[in-house]
Amino acid sequence: MWDFETEPEFQQKLDWVDTFVREEVEPIDLLWPHQQFIPLDEARRKVIDPLKDQVRSHDLWACHLGPDLGGQGYGQLKLALLNEILGRSSWAPVVFGTQAPDTGNAEIIAHYGTPEQKERYLTPLLNGEMFSCYSMTEPHAGADPRMFTTRAVKDGDEWVINGWKFFSSNAKTASFLIVMVVTDPDVSAYRGMSMFLVPSDTPGVNIVRNVGLAYDPMNEGSHALIHYEDVRVPADALLGGEGQAFAIAQTRLGGGRIHHAMRTIGLAQKALDMMAERALSRETAGSLLADKQFVQGYIADSYAQLVQFRLFVLYTAWEIDKYKDYKRVRKDIATAKVVMPTVLHDIAWRAMQVHGALGTTNEMPFFTMIHNAAVMGLADGPTEVHKVTVARQVLHDYKPSADVWPTEWIPRKLEAARAKYADYIEHEVGNL
Ligand SMILES: Cc1cc2nc3c(=O)[nH]c(=O)nc-3n(C[C@H](O)[C@H](O)[C@H](O)COP(=O)(O)OP(=O)(O)OC[C@H]3O[C@@H](n4cnc5c(N)ncnc54)[C@H](O)[C@@H]3O)c2cc1C
Repeated sequence: MWDFETEPEFQQKLDWVDTFVREEVEPIDLLWPHQQFIPLDEARRKVIDPLKDQVRSHDLWACHLGPDLGGQGYGQLKLALLNEILGRSSWAPVVFGTQAPDTGNAEIIAHYGTPEQKERYLTPLLNGEMFSCYSMTEPHAGADPRMFTTRAVKDGDEWVINGWKFFSSNAKTASFLIVMVVTDPDVSAYRGMSMFLVPSDTPGVNIVRNVGLAYDPMNEGSHALIHYEDVRVPADALLGGEGQAFAIAQTRLGGGRIHHAMRTIGLAQKALDMMAERALSRETAGSLLADKQFVQGYIADSYAQLVQFRLFVLYTAWEIDKYKDYKRVRKDIATAKVVMPTVLHDIAWRAMQVHGALGTTNEMPFFTMIHNAAVMGLADGPTEVHKVTVARQVLHDYKPSADVWPTEWIPRKLEAARAKYADYIEHEVGNL
């Protein structure tokens, strides 16, 4: 059965979220920009905690998780409808307990953690009381995890970690890091890498520099270059089994990627809303921008891109709910990941253009959106690598043609068609 309607009860919740995000949360984006991952001080706590309470009272806290983990268990499709509203605002995911990278980190601890690990890390993470960091990329290698060299060696009851990690987002404010390391260099990387839960204040976790994104002041960014220098952790810091890092990473990144796509719908919609408002407000050369065919083209192209992307993301979310298996839906998650940066980039770029000079300034959000699009093409893996995944998965369902001629080669098919309907054709000819 195909159905494109939202249940009335959930639609009521979405309507509440829409007003709440616009009126209560978006102002915070302006007051405290890029600060959503800094632990709350007294002043901010007074504002943010009551907002979180309102979210909880509407049964909308941590919607990416099932009820057993303090979430709502609405599933991915409803999460998509929620996330596309939250995507308008950088603070909204924190206020709703669904911010990356903590969502993915929570998911893998929930999936692979021991009861002790869950109590120590998962519970406070889900309560929004701590931040976490996923430390995988290395300075010399990102897209190909098989090249990672950061190493953990067993020493009695402990593991000793040595190596370098790059772009470990939020390491400076995280209470713990999930670190992917080589534990057995003698087998394939798929079996020789493991994940460790490392408290950030462990001796030897040295943040060398906090790399900033385009708009951050030098050295005041959130993406850490970390030197792990003789970092000792107990044996029970291992997450999942030894050699399980790849399987764990796939669990984490599958969810993370589609959640980014859901939020990107909201951001792209915001850009389209602004473009339409400007087109209807600004006059030049004797008419409104909305009456110029170029601008109409921008609006039509943007709407077409956004609506296709949105339907595809909702469909992928529906598939995840149906199969409960990220691996089975891998092709479509990768496709959404591939399409996402282009959709956001194109719509934000056109919206910026329609705003003229003002669009390029720090008084409008377009440049941040375009930068966001660039980030979406890299974070959780570059577009090119995901295209390879999509192509492989698509090709998987096909076979080569049996001989030198393609299956759809018309002369052979025509001959077959004539043979199939020979009686009828002969009869038809005979009647002439
Ligand atoms: C904002 C942001 C936040 C991030 N947060 C984290 C984090 O929290 N933790 C973490 O561990 N990492 C994080 N990353 C890192 C991210 O996962 C890597 O940037 C990504 O995996 C690519 O690695 P790289 O940057 O080393 O690029 P490289 O591996 O050097 O690739 C560079 C380029 O080469 C091309 N390329 C690479 N491989 C292929 C291929 N197989 N075929 C064709 N072309 C290819 C692509 O154009 C690619 O963009 C973050 C990145 C960004 C931008």
